[in-house]
Amino acid sequence: MHDEALADFVRERAHQRCEYCQTPQAFCPDRLQIDHIIAEQHGGKTQAANLALACVADNNHKGPNLAGIDPKSGRRAWLYHPRRQKWARHFRWQGPILVGRTPVGRATIAVLAINLPHRVAFRAALMAEGVFPPEA
Ligand SMILES: [Zn+2]
Repeated sequence: MHDEALADFVRERAHQRCEYCQTPQAFCPDRLQIDHIIAEQHGGKTQAANLALACVADNNHKGPNLAGIDPKSGRRAWLYHPRRQKWARHFRWQGPILVGRTPVGRATIAVLAINLPHRVAFRAALMAEGVFPPEA
């Protein structure tokens, strides 16, 4: 990402929080990253409609993946697309555990490893402080 204005736009649009696991920048030890929703490897462009804000953990686990396996059905499902889909349709919080409401949600949680124990523990600590999950 060399276009700082575009990166700033993506950060503001996302309200400075990860668009997958909702972790706010303010509580994240690393700077949130600009994610190509469709990876450049697959022809995804560096333009607002293909960019999302993602924490380092989510971005690293996502890599160039476009799809995953829904653990409930064992079938292939696309990953969540923050620009085309609504977060609340695909995910919900059960305490610090992120639950997938749809095949897309469940596949995304699996590929991005959103419920790894140390990540759940981190969110539990934020919840105990009353600063997570964010409103709406
Ligand atoms: Zn995240």
